[in-house]
Amino acid sequence: TDILNTIREEHQLSDISFKTWLETLTVHSVEDNEVTIVVPTGLIGINYITNRYLLPLKVAISEATGEEYEIALIEPKDIPSETVQAPSTIINENVERANLNPRYTFDTFVVGSNNKMAHAASVAVAESPGEAYNPLFIYGGVGLGKTHLMHSIAHFILQKNPETRVLYVTSEIFTNELIESIRSGNNADMTMTKFREKYRNIDVLMIDDIQFIVGKESTQEEFFHTFNALHGAKKQIIISSDKPPKDMEILEDRLRSRFEWGLIVDISAPDYETRMAILKKKEELDGYYIDDDVIEYIAKNVTSNIRELEGSLNKIMAFANLENCEINLALAEKVLKDIISPDEEMRVVTPEIIIRTVAEHFDLSASDLIGNKRSSQITYPRQIAMYLCRQMTDITLKIIGDKLGGRDHSTIMNGIKRIEKEVQYSEETREVINILKKKINPAKNSLK
Ligand code: ADP
Ligand code: MG
Repeated sequence: TDILNTIREEHQLSDISFKTWLETLTVHSVEDNEVTIVVPTGLIGINYITNRYLLPLKVAISEATGEEYEIALIEPKDIPSETVQAPSTIINENVERANLNPRYTFDTFVVGSNNKMAHAASVAVAESPGEAYNPLFIYGGVGLGKTHLMHSIAHFILQKNPETRVLYVTSEIFTNELIESIRSGNNADMTMTKFREKYRNIDVLMIDDIQFIVGKESTQEEFFHTFNALHGAKKQIIISSDKPPKDMEILEDRLRSRFEWGLIVDISAPDYETRMAILKKKEELDGYYIDDDVIEYIAKNVTSNIRELEGSLNKIMAFANLENCEINLALAEKVLKDIISPDEEMRVVTPEIIIRTVAEHFDLSASDLIGNKRSSQITYPRQIAMYLCRQMTDITLKIIGDKLGGRDHSTIMNGIKRIEKEVQYSEETREVINILKKKINPAKNSLK
């Protein structure tokens, strides 16, 4: 520990790097002039430690002992078999059993205005599972941090109390195991009894992406009973979904009402400051050093989804490694040009671009769309334009109304609602919307 602290001070490591890397190391043995150190398996990897910390470790050890030692880094699987595993690995085993990603912890989670509530609720639940909010229901779009938060809660609970039985599953795993248990006879691996034992004899159950069990009747039924059994016994339940319960159309009412018993929190898209903070955190965790203008470039241009944000940074790093070249703005622009349109005018979607494109598509003029004619050949495209303004820009209903010839707020609202309905029921409208989105912003919308 002293040695680790020396390294920490000399290299001015942040708490997170220290905790993530060095604190996980354990000394296995000291023989002759060789110290064997165990690096836990997982994302960290021996190579990383070797590149970054082998020399500092060596220097610190010789300073502390006054003698020169060679250092051997090994993984747990390479520990000679007669030795017993250190007690610290109990936690790791629990983490594995609970299906957790070691990197998704509160320490690595950046709190921003988009996820403040969800984060606070998650911490509260982690501190007193079964007591604070039960169930905790987290909803939000793809890649915004739901899974990361759920794993963080689990890690926190397990760290404080390694005996807690935490189970994290996706709703697909839940469904598959249920189906298997229904199908199989008495001697199979997963019978109904075993299934119920597995899901009811736990302290914390986390079901990720619950939207996938919606519409599957027998799964909903079984989940309903699982929920009741656990909730009745004051066991914590945590659920994530892409929508709030009230918008999950085919969800059974009795489940919906139970989801609303506890606390419902949402995560939305991160703002610029949060995107910057997330990229910087990732830079720190991965031990990169990248110029701020590159980070700013990514944060400015990759806006909708944190997975994509991280992916962009990874892509740049991978490219630089491969080509062995410097990481700078020019490289970032080159690597990300498929994701980010280089054409400034096309990248920023404005209501003017939308109106012009919609008008062209329907063989109308922009003044037709803005004007007062009410024939259906014009109202439909006009409403499409309202809908796209709402979807593709950040402007308010009032401004959309202004741009569309001074229409009032409720006219715009009704137009948007009508198209929202049509998108659900009419293949044709969906198709039109897709084509228009591609025309309006080809770079973004060709990905999907
Ligand atoms: P979701 O489950 O909502 O689709 P994830 O939890 O899988 O999203 O998050 C996608 C990626 O973004 C993960 O790599 C996660 O670590 C990262 N991420 C999301 N939110 C944050 C945050 N607030 N701070 C740091 N990383 C985040
Ligand atoms: Mg997820």
